[in-house]
Amino acid sequence: MMADDASSFNTIFGRGLIGELRHIAHRPYLVVTMADLWPRFAPHFDEHLAAVHFVETLEHDALAHAVDQLPAVNAVVGLGGGQAVDVAKFVAWRRRLPLFQAPTSLTVDAPWGHRAAIRFGGHVRYIGWAIPQAVYVDYDVIQSAPALLNRSGIGDILCYHTAHFDWRLAHERGRGETRWPYDEALVAEAQAVLEQVWARLPDIYAVNAAGIRALANGLRYGGGTYHAAGWNPRHVEGVEHFFFYALEYLTGKKFIHGQPVCLGVYLGSLMQENRAEEMLAAIRRAGVDIRPAAMGVTWDEVAATLHRLRRYVTENGLWYTVANEFAVTDSFIAHARARIEAVFA
Ligand SMILES: [Zn+2]
Repeated sequence: MMADDASSFNTIFGRGLIGELRHIAHRPYLVVTMADLWPRFAPHFDEHLAAVHFVETLEHDALAHAVDQLPAVNAVVGLGGGQAVDVAKFVAWRRRLPLFQAPTSLTVDAPWGHRAAIRFGGHVRYIGWAIPQAVYVDYDVIQSAPALLNRSGIGDILCYHTAHFDWRLAHERGRGETRWPYDEALVAEAQAVLEQVWARLPDIYAVNAAGIRALANGLRYGGGTYHAAGWNPRHVEGVEHFFFYALEYLTGKKFIHGQPVCLGVYLGSLMQENRAEEMLAAIRRAGVDIRPAAMGVTWDEVAATLHRLRRYVTENGLWYTVANEFAVTDSFIAHARARIEAVFA
């Protein structure tokens, strides 16, 4: 694990951590959170709380305007899931403030990434720069979130499996990016993180302390390595995320990130003929239901996304993966459907 790597944020595990934030955040401070979470956490803050920013938009111009209206503060506390921690990063960047992050679930690697996922006319761009003083992972807080939110965090780690195949494939085909030449050492580094998380799947399913530590340390690596590798995402992202982006684009629906990503891991590894059944079994062991119905879509929508995938990645200039060359057929989709429905029945 990259625990000593300077690129991975200072991360503290413990209990009762939210109540300590008021003692350490420079005064007066701002809390960035979600409206539905605030009633539960408000009692942990004091008279030095200058304002609370509830995340309502991730659109850049609206967000920049809202941030400029906030009172003068000397620190920012990010409290919530991916959106709250991303907006907290954006505020810290725009106002040049120290940042304290307290994720309330382990759904994505956003608490450990330098940039914020901000929308420009609906399109995601990763901008900004924020290194938190610390990321506080409170066992009780994480355990109080819906179990699926935490379990689905494995999507952002299992995705290394499909990403590695895609990077090697692009390299072999002469379709890799010159700025990101295939790097066996980087692949091995990410693979080691994947294996540490893999060994803890029953704990991640149980959302116990060992599972929380394993998952958070995996996400910590994933969040930091994009920067550490020179803004190279090739060892941590591939066809599985592209499937998710295409599904989101075609359906217009909102997802728990790791659910469609895990579905993409299985479908992608099936296209790659790359240990697909092992991946499906791992996803099942972690308790992430990847049946379309479990994420509010239909098999028809998944099938349409698969049929459209090659065109989608080409039109969007996404990097070369198995999606560029795999011919999706109805029998491929029927096989995937039968396997997923059987394993999760
Ligand atoms: Zn992701």
